[in-house]
Amino acid sequence: MYTLVINCGSSSLKFQLINPESEEVMAIGLCERIGIEESKVTYQKKGGEKSVLLAPMPTHKEAVIIMQKLLTDEPSGIIKSLKEVGAVGHRVAHGGEIFTSSALITEETLKAIEECCALAPLHNPASLTGIRACMELMPETPMVAVFDTAFHQTMPESSYLYGLPYEYYEKYKVRKYGFHGTSHSYVSKRAAEYLNRDYEAMKIVVCHLGNGSSISAVKNGASVDTSMGFTPLEGLLMGTRSGDVDPGAMQFLMNKENLTIDEMLDVLNRKSGVLGISGVSSDFRDIMKAAAEGNHRAQAALDTFTYRVVKYIGAYAAAMGGIDAIVFTAGVGENDGEMRKKICHQLAFLGIDVNDEANAKRGSEQLISTADSKVAVLVIPTNEELAIARETIALVG
Ligand code: ADP
Repeated sequence: MYTLVINCGSSSLKFQLINPESEEVMAIGLCERIGIEESKVTYQKKGGEKSVLLAPMPTHKEAVIIMQKLLTDEPSGIIKSLKEVGAVGHRVAHGGEIFTSSALITEETLKAIEECCALAPLHNPASLTGIRACMELMPETPMVAVFDTAFHQTMPESSYLYGLPYEYYEKYKVRKYGFHGTSHSYVSKRAAEYLNRDYEAMKIVVCHLGNGSSISAVKNGASVDTSMGFTPLEGLLMGTRSGDVDPGAMQFLMNKENLTIDEMLDVLNRKSGVLGISGVSSDFRDIMKAAAEGNHRAQAALDTFTYRVVKYIGAYAAAMGGIDAIVFTAGVGENDGEMRKKICHQLAFLGIDVNDEANAKRGSEQLISTADSKVAVLVIPTNEELAIARETIALVG
């Protein structure tokens, strides 16, 4: 029996069919531009060629039906029928304060996910449509919801409260939630396993640095703080998101540029971050190339990004009363050795010492600090789909 992992974004649906015993990926697919014209599906089964086909997908329901056909029909199929799927794990963006861990999907769970829609109006409704479509196709198959926010629900009040009138928290649940929870949880646990140390007795900082980036402080096996907030806009500088900005600057800019609040948010989400500062790209490889050619703004984008990562790590060292391990993960964290080195050099005061040879290696779990380093520094490739598959199996048994 296989485990199917489904991740519905606002206009996309990603899926992976995983063998839970060997943890092998049997098939992988991505449905894009759902609800817009020219929607397409990219699909590859184990040992097969990657194929791309155009297919109309007005909603996530059609995407789920196409996924079923790809997985079961000749020649793309890898299973005879969906009866070979023993369990489905769905990634859900927001679990609010209701979900502190993954949950078996029942009508009650669906109602609770619906209650969280106001907190993630683009993502949670998409997940719900995807889940309901899967339930129609596989009514007997147990399904699990794995939330991006759940891992951070252990944060203490002092970490999650904003300095706003308390009634906004009471009435509307406006607070820090944090995201990338599956990644932070998976990577921090793997780091403890790699170091052969007790996860429940460690102070770990996880740097998930990708197109979207967040840092978390994981103390004694629980998230105690994280850089993303009520939405994924807070915290670090990202590919196109601004991260922390003075809200007063927003009012000033809206007046100057005659922007509505939605237009301002669009600037903060899509035109800011390293793209906004560099004016080159949101892709770190392009920015590094431009910086090497002497582009000042590209260099400024990289320096500002690095500085903010260092600042958050320093803050979390203070928050936890020290750090045992720093872990780098996601696109930039896993691949950009130069960035890791710069960050670690600026943290030398913590007794961090990087092993240049280990830091230069790519693609696998790696301890990149020297034996003398007071803090262990690791690279752990994140694998959110596998983490979701494991959670799913753990819940359905
Ligand atoms: P997402 O948040 O979309 O999941 P990823 O974790 O895939 O993003 O990270 C994407 C980012 O990783 C891109 O900005 C890309 O430039 C960066 N990246 C990938 N490979 C490298 C590399 N070798 N060096 C530097 N940056 C890289």
